[in-house]
Amino acid sequence: MESEYAISTHQLTKQYDRHIAVNQVDLQVEIGEVYGLIGPNGAGKTTLIRMLAAIEEPTTGEIYINGEQLLRDSSNPRLKQRLGYLPDDFPLYDDLTVWDYLDYFARLYLLKQPHRRYRLNDVLELVQLTSKRHSLISTLSRGMKQRLSLARTIIHEPMLLLLDEPVSGLDPIARMQFREIIKILQSAGMTILISSHVLSDLAELCTSIGIMELGYLVESASLKELYQRLSRQQIIISTL
Ligand code: ATP
Repeated sequence: MESEYAISTHQLTKQYDRHIAVNQVDLQVEIGEVYGLIGPNGAGKTTLIRMLAAIEEPTTGEIYINGEQLLRDSSNPRLKQRLGYLPDDFPLYDDLTVWDYLDYFARLYLLKQPHRRYRLNDVLELVQLTSKRHSLISTLSRGMKQRLSLARTIIHEPMLLLLDEPVSGLDPIARMQFREIIKILQSAGMTILISSHVLSDLAELCTSIGIMELGYLVESASLKELYQRLSRQQIIISTL
């Protein structure tokens, strides 16, 4: 049953000219789990996530979010409202304060006062940026900026979070801080799909892991099962 999954794809494929970036991917992510997507550069992670976020149209195949089909013409705004997507290259506006930046996105999602103000305060506390609320974004560290990006992504309280390499380029402490927030979001019931180049970024967080190579989802298993198969050398992945 599709409705048992937060994400279910059938033979999802994206082709650019003659290059197949994502190839016949059947992905199932259960409601409430943190699913890690790993794979080397060019494996197709970003393309897959962009299709799940309804940014990129599949060439063929189907996507179901909580049992409801994500249509190619992106005409299901209610469904998109349930998604939070953090791209790997989303710009922050350096000249805005942290508060004004978040408030801008909250308005885009039509959050009304006084709920908007309460929501901003809650989210800033969650990402540990309350003391920076009046600071210009240009003055934030890289880790703080990434936590602010996460705050923007969850401002409208989505049920499903899609995070494209969110800890890439962060120092170890910033990575750890980011992971702690993800754990809190998961315990609040959110389903989270998170990509990375390396298993160690995801191992502590994820209940299941998918491995992509050359556009294919070559493995999808619980973390325990994956480690067992790795130790038996049933899986040999160059990037792990
Ligand atoms: P990275 O970790 O480097 O971001 P990735 O696993 O996210 O890699 P994708 O960015 O999805 O991989 O790219 C998969 C393949 O599709 C790559 O070969 C890439 O060059 C190609 N590709 C992605 N977007 C386009 C596009 N718009 N036009 C043509 N080819 C593309």
